[in-house]
Amino acid sequence: MAILVTGGAGYIGSVVVEDLRKNGEEVLVLDNLSYGHKQAVDKNVTFYEGNIGDEKLVSQILKQHEIQACMHFSAFAYVGESVENPKIYYENNVGQTLRLLNVLIENNIKKFVFSSTCATYGEPQKVPIDETHPQHPTNPYGWSKFMVERILESYDAAYGLKFVALRYFNACGATRKCGEDHDPETHLIPLVLFAAQGKLPFISIFGDDYPTLDGTAIRDYIHIADLSQAHLLALEHLRQNKNSEFINLGNGQGFSVKEVIETARKITGRNIEVKIAPRRLGDPSRLVADAKKARQVLGWKPRFPDLESIIESAWAWHLANPNGYD
Ligand code: UDP
Repeated sequence: MAILVTGGAGYIGSVVVEDLRKNGEEVLVLDNLSYGHKQAVDKNVTFYEGNIGDEKLVSQILKQHEIQACMHFSAFAYVGESVENPKIYYENNVGQTLRLLNVLIENNIKKFVFSSTCATYGEPQKVPIDETHPQHPTNPYGWSKFMVERILESYDAAYGLKFVALRYFNACGATRKCGEDHDPETHLIPLVLFAAQGKLPFISIFGDDYPTLDGTAIRDYIHIADLSQAHLLALEHLRQNKNSEFINLGNGQGFSVKEVIETARKITGRNIEVKIAPRRLGDPSRLVADAKKARQVLGWKPRFPDLESIIESAWAWHLANPNGYD
């Protein structure tokens, strides 16, 4: 039986597709390539180009294959854009997901792994953040993921949909084959590496007046390979007919923007110019996961929790692919 992976050509989805295949799973990818890269998906994987909310297309895929579970990655994920244009975030991340879910339920496919986010918590009231922390997102992107979480709960209660919603902290790093190639790129680690490569003259530090040791914001960075493994464990969890769960994915350790830049200097051996810029709107000072539940419920053990391994892997990918996937 196959696994349907939506957004399988994206940054996280493509790594999970790689790992599923290594485990001998049959994988089908559905991606509209609005942000994904066809080159990130192995030629031997059955690939459907289209929208997840295209009920006709999804029904047709479900008729042609025997599908056991769906892993749903495809979503828009730019916080700033979501504030400026919430319509497309609610339509794409909520509306289309709802249509996908309805077709799955109609076809009796009731195992669902969902990419959620720590952005559903909003401004933290306490750190580290565990799964019981109140959720009050501070932008439409976070709300769109929050809404899907509530839909999943209702569908579990009414239709017996079993899901694992994984709340990602800061996904980063690369495997040998798959890396981070967003257009536009807004994330700290790839931008720092662009500065190291000379593709950017400097990296802006968004705020050095946060109430942290060095004044810069702290995040919980998680290696994409570890993140991917958690999805495989979530699938196993569902196969064992266990309960639906919301689970944080982070390392439980925070690093400041300055620590990230310093580590990148050490690993690349290159000069990285910095400029202090104003804080980015809506950026909390400190986001760190309490990641115990992933270990307890899924048996997840991150292999690359240190910042060095994460940046080393990203640097290797950027050196090997100086123009990303193009
Ligand atoms: N950041 C920064 N300069 C940049 C990009 C990001 O100082 O050019 C900071 C950002 O303000 C945040 C951290 O780096 O504190 C991580 O940002 P990123 O966009 O990678 O992930 P986010 O935490 O926003 O999801």
